[in-house]
Amino acid sequence: MRTPFIAGNWKMNVTDREALAFVDAVKDRVPSNEEVESAVCAQALSLKGMTEKAANTDLRIGAQNMHEEDYGAFTGEISAPALTSIGIDLVIIGHSERREMFNDTDERVNRKLHAALAHDMTPIVCIGEKLEEREANRAGEVVRKQLEQALQGIGPEQVKGCVFAYEPVWAIGTGKSSNPEEAGEMARTIRAYIRDQYGQSAAEAVRIQYGGSVNSENIAEYLADDDIDGALVGGASIKVDSFLALLEAA
Ligand code: PGA
Repeated sequence: MRTPFIAGNWKMNVTDREALAFVDAVKDRVPSNEEVESAVCAQALSLKGMTEKAANTDLRIGAQNMHEEDYGAFTGEISAPALTSIGIDLVIIGHSERREMFNDTDERVNRKLHAALAHDMTPIVCIGEKLEEREANRAGEVVRKQLEQALQGIGPEQVKGCVFAYEPVWAIGTGKSSNPEEAGEMARTIRAYIRDQYGQSAAEAVRIQYGGSVNSENIAEYLADDDIDGALVGGASIKVDSFLALLEAA
């Protein structure tokens, strides 16, 4: 079936020196890819050094964002061709922090997803409702709409290569994780949407992560749900021991 996929999202919290030391410390201790896939998504400046260190190991290195265009006058941005030229083939797209603070609208998320897939990258597409949307019982509707917009013009074969991270915005970085039942419900909502739009084999192939205050204590409760195939982890992915504990629990 689907291999669990645990990805760290370090955000802007790890320096280059720390990033390289982390890779040295974990690269030979992560489980084999057939058991559990593991990745860390770092700041762009560390990606080349990390990838070189992680070469021929089971640890994947990913970017936290990229621009939707391949080239052009986009000062400060990073392109898919630049990422793939240093061996990066994993990228987070549409994280809620980018949606909120950096103008990653649904349309841009869609264009970024097209760019990632055109360059044979694995996208981790983030979706999730805000607190007021959950309280208004609109979580399912919000997530379906985000999926619909993110996936405009994407075909079934391409969808199979996508990873979706369900991250309720109110659970990110707050220590207030979603309860596993609710997270499982939302994972089923996502898979049902993929089934409706793209068919059974696409729905069975896509991996759905939960994200939002996941740690080594609670990760097993999420992964116990058949529809949750992994986690996107911020704070608890930064320290070597705590990252390895997440993988161990998975
Ligand atoms: P958190 O972040 O694990 O620190 O809540 C998750 C994320 O932003 O992906």
